[in-house]
Amino acid sequence: MNMSKKYAIGIDLGGTNLRVALVSRDGEIIKKIKEPSSGEILDIIFKTIDSLFSEDVAGIGLGIAGLVDRQNGRVLTSPNLPAIKGINLVNETRKRFKVPVFIENDANTAALGEKWAGAGEGFSNFVLLTLGTGIGSGIIKDGKLLDVSAEVGHMSINADGEKCPCGNTGCLELYASARAMIARAVSALEKGTESLLRECCKGNFYKLTPEDIYTTALDGDSLAREILKDAGRNLGIGIANIINLMSPEAIILTGGLIGAWNIYVQEAIKEASRRAFRELFETVKIIPSSLGDEAGVIGSAGLVFQKVIPHTEVMSK
Ligand SMILES: [Zn+2]
Repeated sequence: MNMSKKYAIGIDLGGTNLRVALVSRDGEIIKKIKEPSSGEILDIIFKTIDSLFSEDVAGIGLGIAGLVDRQNGRVLTSPNLPAIKGINLVNETRKRFKVPVFIENDANTAALGEKWAGAGEGFSNFVLLTLGTGIGSGIIKDGKLLDVSAEVGHMSINADGEKCPCGNTGCLELYASARAMIARAVSALEKGTESLLRECCKGNFYKLTPEDIYTTALDGDSLAREILKDAGRNLGIGIANIINLMSPEAIILTGGLIGAWNIYVQEAIKEASRRAFRELFETVKIIPSSLGDEAGVIGSAGLVFQKVIPHTEVMSK
């Protein structure tokens, strides 16, 4: 591998947005592009890579929302991006750009990004949770990204719970994600529950967002508060399970829902403290990410440096 290549291209393909960035060897974003992840997604990915590509690019890292086959480069399944299911994204991208290409789950690359250049820098063992439409996770163990799918959002917390598209029932993300909060709000409003939420979105409560729920909760609305607290409590069950299983030094939280930290995350921390082994809970730090939605592209690029440039210590700057 040519040691003079200074950059890697990191991609973060989620259900809503495609983020692509040119990243330096010390984890800094030089240039970035954001596009909606709809339409001819493969063409859009290639076009955005094209606009950042140069002789100085050592390789391309793909962070994909879904289950991926790292060895063969294939997307096994991606519930929010059905168009890429079964596609060998690594082969397609390598054919086109003729550089090394790697694939990972998007929450895993976010964890790697936080380890390399974010809130995880000082920890050797942590779990990153992405709290948004769904719930994803990535695990850093002994300073390295743990090579597992880490689908924490699909750990069951309710034996007789709702059916999840993944095939399981009672999955954490059915009770603690943004989608879960919105579904609960809409169903309560449809049943005629009194709430200030009814006045959001010009009366069309089908357009509610988690931000609406949070601001309405801050105004003292009891339905909005209850939704956030219940979701937080459920998240806390998941966090307690993670603490008991992994005994991490930290749990790093990222994604849109951490904007509701003061109600939702506080409640989760309280619930986790009630459920996890006290000795383990007392040593874990539950903190927000510092890279936010840039963690994914930075981590995807980090994957490249880690694999193609010998002796690059991506993991500890
Ligand atoms: Zn599930």
